[in-house]
Amino acid sequence: MSTSPARPRGRHFFANPGPTNIPDSVLRAMDRPTIDFNDGDFAPVYQQAVEGVKFVLQTKQHLFMYNASGHGAWEASLTNLFSPGERIVVLESGYFSEEWGAMAAAHGLVVEKLAADWRVGADLGKLQAMLQADSGHAIRAICVVHNETATGMMIPLDQVRAAMDAAGHPALLLVDTISSLGSLDFRMDEWQIDCVVGGSQKGLMLPTGMSFTGVSEKAMAAHRKATLKRFYFDWTLMEKRPQKSFIGTLPVNMFYGLRESVRLIEEETLPALFARHHRLAEATRRAVQVWAANHGPQLYCTTPARASNSVTAVLMPEGHDPEALRRIVRQRFNVSLGGGLGALGGKIFRIGHLGDLNEPMILGTLGAVEMGLRLAGIPHGRGGVEAAMDYLAAA
Ligand code: PLP
Repeated sequence: MSTSPARPRGRHFFANPGPTNIPDSVLRAMDRPTIDFNDGDFAPVYQQAVEGVKFVLQTKQHLFMYNASGHGAWEASLTNLFSPGERIVVLESGYFSEEWGAMAAAHGLVVEKLAADWRVGADLGKLQAMLQADSGHAIRAICVVHNETATGMMIPLDQVRAAMDAAGHPALLLVDTISSLGSLDFRMDEWQIDCVVGGSQKGLMLPTGMSFTGVSEKAMAAHRKATLKRFYFDWTLMEKRPQKSFIGTLPVNMFYGLRESVRLIEEETLPALFARHHRLAEATRRAVQVWAANHGPQLYCTTPARASNSVTAVLMPEGHDPEALRRIVRQRFNVSLGGGLGALGGKIFRIGHLGDLNEPMILGTLGAVEMGLRLAGIPHGRGGVEAAMDYLAAA
């Protein structure tokens, strides 16, 4: 007989900012017997999935894919583009910008940080000034986490591109779109992004385990000269393979799922998908703004124009533990929230609102959080869910 406590009944509400809910039709699409990835039957599945990812990235350029989580695609972006000792700038946004920078430093790159308050985000005027001051063009690349999953902050990429152009600097633009792709507008070609890093388990609504990089012609030219050590992630080796991607066995079942997930995205259309994410995010923010009364939890991101539409980070009042709240919400209501990462551990909790999600699902999550605030004795303003409903009913 099991001695562990009974799991709460009903559907588990997964409100982490990734991995995310996997739609039933994606699960069904993956439920297939194994076939050889070199089999002719697989070729159209692969092609349709690849074209679908390019559609979501809004690119016509190169795509290299990996059997790896997002960290693998990060490593691919660095080792394929640079040589030891080269200088790159990382826009500070939170835990994930720090980690990408740390990985670059571990590979022997000289990493400079454009420092920023995590609640406000980088000052792009400072980026322009930094690039203008680099008259010898020693800076090889700017790395930006488009949507900082750890803080709920979105960095406007069109403005990053404008700052680089205004400085007339030729650095490559590398962007992590892991928690923005398939949720927030992302235009690789229009914004002249040279290398974009994406993963399967967030807006693409798939299991974790596959990641990819979109790569521009300019980045391919840089790749030909880059000497950092690589093998499993080497784009030159990948180009020689029949699929022009992957080293090793292809994850066939993942591709059946991917083909279905991009079909769902195309069916919804990108504008409608972005509008839905904005609507659900705004409802969440309205709820938190009500909870903030009586010295309650508040929005971590203090710059409304940069508030993420895929994740909201909520700062707990001093002396109150977000982990206790997360525990109550999980145990009593079967709702899983994200916790604080790195320096924000024990200070914030995060509500993921991306992927396969609708109004009743976000209201269920917000209701569970509001009940959790009461049960945990955390001061807050009442009526957050009401404010979210008012907004959603009128939207
Ligand atoms: N970058 C961002 C913005 C992320 O949110 C994550 C993971 O959540 C990563 C990178 C790392 O990806 P993974 O955990 O898939 O290795």
